[in-house]
Amino acid sequence: MERIYLDNSASTPTAKEVLRKMMPYFSEKYGNASSLHFFGQEAQSAIDEARTKASKFLSCNQEEVFFTGSATEANNLAIVGVMRKIRKQNKNAIPHIITSSIEHESILEPIKYYTKMGYITSDFIPVSKEGFVLLEELKNLLKEETALVSVMYANNEIGTIQNIKEISLLIRKFNKENNKEILFHTDAAQSANFLNCDTKELGVDMLTISGHKVYGPKGVGILFVKKGAEIEPLILGSKQEAGVRSGTENIPAIVGVGAALEIIEKERKNIEKISFLRDKLAEEILKSIENSKINGSMKKRIHHNLNVSFLGVDREDLVVALDILGIAVSAGAACYSKALKTSHVLSALGLPEEEKKSSIRITLGRSTTEDDIKKTVDILKKTVENLRR
Ligand code: PLP
Repeated sequence: MERIYLDNSASTPTAKEVLRKMMPYFSEKYGNASSLHFFGQEAQSAIDEARTKASKFLSCNQEEVFFTGSATEANNLAIVGVMRKIRKQNKNAIPHIITSSIEHESILEPIKYYTKMGYITSDFIPVSKEGFVLLEELKNLLKEETALVSVMYANNEIGTIQNIKEISLLIRKFNKENNKEILFHTDAAQSANFLNCDTKELGVDMLTISGHKVYGPKGVGILFVKKGAEIEPLILGSKQEAGVRSGTENIPAIVGVGAALEIIEKERKNIEKISFLRDKLAEEILKSIENSKINGSMKKRIHHNLNVSFLGVDREDLVVALDILGIAVSAGAACYSKALKTSHVLSALGLPEEEKKSSIRITLGRSTTEDDIKKTVDILKKTVENLRR
């Protein structure tokens, strides 16, 4: 059976070109980058090259790029790194961290955990019905103890794009007026494929990228940390990555994410094709399947994302039925699909239970075709009708 993959927010296939560049670093160029000999230096130059590529992508200095084991680790590093920095300066300090109510678990969970432990206090900014962070609420939450604000660039479930520049300006203004140094982090794991990640233009102090969401390999992430915004490490050891992330570097994966960022930058011109197909899919679904409803905003939405509720249909049943017919979509974020949890993102939008329970996420990729969309609409229509019956 020919299968159609429409779950690119969960993971993207490693591009063949990327894989080709990674391959020699498994068994031909296998040195440890910390070694002084030829093999070590060969590994070190591969890391240097990848760091240069990442720094070009992020418009930053190479010393501001830190490779991690995933975007989850990069997000944890941003939070814990700031918390530890403040507590190192004053062991009685309890820093305040603000985030949005629709962040990925890798932001929400560490914040909730350290809040429960009493190491930090935290606040969660509510969002509008379409999933936009309410800036007035953010303004009211900023206070003397605030050390970090983290707001994702684009949401992984509903694709809503936040106005990162505006949030940055708001925080800078507060910093200036109150002589503060609140840092601003954004999780760009879902955005790097489509949105400008020029860290200077965005005005962020930290930014997260995930290797496997950008046609690179799994098990690698990047945290950009602006010079001057030094953070304490999460993982301690032999002080690789300038002491911010110890552990022997995963050279093939680092080479892979560097190569992947270069490719997606080159392919920027093709992203309109993806949003064209996504819009077509949305239009066809709304036209041909009654009681279907798009969640989130259609205006400021990441190019490949669609989140739709099919009233009266259970989302897990729909995902399984579609899979049997060769269409891979998701019941919300990848993490819920197995845990069968209700989506905190859809809850934050204030959606009624029935709409939340019947929503699926469809995310297109660089190889999605018009034919894929046609087949998906046909199969979706029949499957929804069958399940409703
Ligand atoms: N942040 C967002 C917005 C995501 O969507 C994901 C993955 O789904 C992550 C972080 C975690 O990425 P990784 O799988 O590299 O840990």
